[in-house]
Amino acid sequence: MSDTHEHAAGDSVPELKQRIQELEGMLHACRVRLPNAPAEAVRELAESEERFALAVRGTNDGIWDWDLKTDVVYFAPRFKQLLGHTDDEMKNLFSEFESRLHDEDRERILAALKAHVDQQVPYDVEYRLRRKDGVYRWFRARGSALRDGAGHPYRMAGSITDITDQKESIQALARSEERFSLAVRGTNDGIWDWDIRTGEVFFSPPWKSMIGYEDDELENVFATFDKLLHPEDHERVMATLNDYLESRIPRYSVEFRFKHKDGSWRWILARGRSLRDKSGKPYRMAGSHTDVTERKHDEEELHKARQAAEAANSAKSVFLANMSHEIRTPMNGVIGMSELLLGTTLDDSQREYLNMLKDSADSLLELLNDILDFSKIEAGKMDLDSHEFDLNTIVTETVQAMGIRAFQKRLVLLHHISPEVPARLLGDDGRLRQILINLVGNAIKFTHKGGVTVEVNVESGTADALMLHFKINDTGIGITPEMHESIFEAFTQAEASTTRRYGGTGLGLAICRDLVTLMQGRIWVESQLGVGSTFHFTAAFGRTSGISIKPLSPRFQPVMTAPASMRVLVVEDGHVNQLVSARMLEKRGHLVTLASSGQEAIDFFNSEPFDAILMDVQMPGMNGFEATAAIREIEKKSGEHVRIIAMTANAMKGDREDCLAAGMDDYIAKPLRSVELFQVLEKNSQRSMVQEPEQPFTRVEAAAIRPPVESVPFDLAAFRESAGDEKLMRKLIAIFPEDTQKYLKKAEKALAAGKAKPLYEAAHSLKGMLGVYAADKALRLASELSEYAHAGDLKGAQLMYDQLKKECAMLNGALMSAYDPGI
Ligand code: ADP
Repeated sequence: MSDTHEHAAGDSVPELKQRIQELEGMLHACRVRLPNAPAEAVRELAESEERFALAVRGTNDGIWDWDLKTDVVYFAPRFKQLLGHTDDEMKNLFSEFESRLHDEDRERILAALKAHVDQQVPYDVEYRLRRKDGVYRWFRARGSALRDGAGHPYRMAGSITDITDQKESIQALARSEERFSLAVRGTNDGIWDWDIRTGEVFFSPPWKSMIGYEDDELENVFATFDKLLHPEDHERVMATLNDYLESRIPRYSVEFRFKHKDGSWRWILARGRSLRDKSGKPYRMAGSHTDVTERKHDEEELHKARQAAEAANSAKSVFLANMSHEIRTPMNGVIGMSELLLGTTLDDSQREYLNMLKDSADSLLELLNDILDFSKIEAGKMDLDSHEFDLNTIVTETVQAMGIRAFQKRLVLLHHISPEVPARLLGDDGRLRQILINLVGNAIKFTHKGGVTVEVNVESGTADALMLHFKINDTGIGITPEMHESIFEAFTQAEASTTRRYGGTGLGLAICRDLVTLMQGRIWVESQLGVGSTFHFTAAFGRTSGISIKPLSPRFQPVMTAPASMRVLVVEDGHVNQLVSARMLEKRGHLVTLASSGQEAIDFFNSEPFDAILMDVQMPGMNGFEATAAIREIEKKSGEHVRIIAMTANAMKGDREDCLAAGMDDYIAKPLRSVELFQVLEKNSQRSMVQEPEQPFTRVEAAAIRPPVESVPFDLAAFRESAGDEKLMRKLIAIFPEDTQKYLKKAEKALAAGKAKPLYEAAHSLKGMLGVYAADKALRLASELSEYAHAGDLKGAQLMYDQLKKECAMLNGALMSAYDPGI
């Protein structure tokens, strides 16, 4: 037998017994066939049989021994076992073998046996035999015939080996190889297989044709690959390969330029894997080459196109930024000039046109500012200018500035900064203010009743920085859920009709979003249509090293410009000042009660409650001091204290002290200016609400300092400012002649009678009313007249009176020509 195997260790006892039985069977057969053989020969034969048996014992082979003459075949028990039979289940006949042969194999096998027996063609075949359970198994059979002295075969013996598993794995391998080669051919990829130890590399034909070579044109060695690599890529590729082989990177995948036979460079993507020995050392590596030249070119094109697009976009944004900046300069000129023009004498239609011009210029400037910001952000030119600032100041000032608009719409505007927010922070306060103005401005714009609140809280913080959370809530028209995201896009408005009704560019929120992003925060909205909106944004700020808004007041702080409505008693005998003060206060939302004398004031005071009293000092009959003293006397019983604010045109020394001594709380100079009036009035009202430190007495003086304008009888702009609106101006002009005549007549009578006191009173009343008209020259003359009267110099007073009378006539003419009170 050619297949000699070592005796397999671990044979079980029953198996050994079986083999011994086999051996005895063989010996028996020998003795039967060689009955006359000498004992020595028999013994030798037995030994040789034993060797043979030992040799096959370790194998799984099944022995057969066929007597060609009788057709009796000895099938060893192992043979039968291989076919799933017990020893007694198969007869010792050739037909037993033949009947089990697969139909497809039978003819071929019988022919092979015949060829061996007749022509000594070696017998080494493969066939299928049916097992007892009906399943066919593959066997390899080898055997040889014994021949007599004449060369005639009389016996043939051999073995069968079950090769089914081997056959299946070969078939599986063939299938997988077939699959692999199909796949390789299908992909156009080139395959390489590198024996690291010898440096030999198998390069598949597609590997070579990818770079223009025939199979035999390139040598199968590593140097081939090395040589064709682009010099600029060489170092990188070798480093990647080394990193992979030395296990520094998990996979080998690298792109490089590879030289084509025609001299051009192709882009190759190489991928591969290594096989490693037990120590982890790679000994073989195989992989593929893919030509990615086209993809590379596409990528390059795309990259170039993107760069070009970005450059164009940035150029556009830079252009926009420059343009809007350039346009702003002349726009400022237009606005400045229209403001100056508005301060001159104009007729009604001129004024109307000019106001329209200025409104348009204002909104154009606003739009330009938005575009400038937006294009700056787009062009990547928007930088934050970080420095230390006071957050409370920023929020309070912003809210106060917006308060005028809120007030005009009768909306409540409140703000609250949490006490944890540090007083001083590092950040761009200008940009923060811009965001707040935008959001608070929108909230006011889209709200018709109710109010707006601004809240600031700490979201999170570290030792050097903190994230603040701002909330701007309104009770306005709200936003539909579909628009919650898109309103932050440039030029987007919640609905088309909104644009017409509310105006705006749709840029505000886009700018806010970008600024908030620059501040490492985010912005979003929660809103319900018809109920209101809350805009949230977060922004990061640095902490300052300095030690800190005292903490801020934990309550909502009422904004100066939009207080709750106050009940104000105005005590004033002059018709003009009654009109002016009542109009200003009512426009501001306060409830005004007018009293024309001290006595009337006391009567009102006794019958209804007031939050404050504005008290004219000089009044005929009971003056302001006396009325105040009387009110304080009444209060002694109740223990209450109403704020009384003196209003006087007196600028003489001692007035302040006199007011205080008479029990007044504050003081305001005539002519009244709305800003100062509200400050004094509402500051007092806030004292009880925010517990500010007591400021015993504040005199607002700004209004008193005004250089005389001799050339024109009155200053129209200042008059407009003190009146506050056109309607009141017309009314004041209409009552001017009657009121001045009344006081001038009184003065004339007093002069004629030589009485200084009524002369002083008349001059004082004139002084009080002329201030409202911003008639500086007349005011100065009235003031001097009152001083002459006070000093008892009736001669000097007469001179002044004459001048004043003339001036008042001129003033009347000027007022009439500036405004036609009849319209
Ligand atoms: P605009 O200049 O048009 O106000 P914004 O970007 O500031 O531009 O706002 C975009 C749109 O978002 C507005 O036109 C409006 O439709 C909606 N919007 C913004 N704020 C509010 C709000 N507080 N309430 C209701 N709608 C709002």
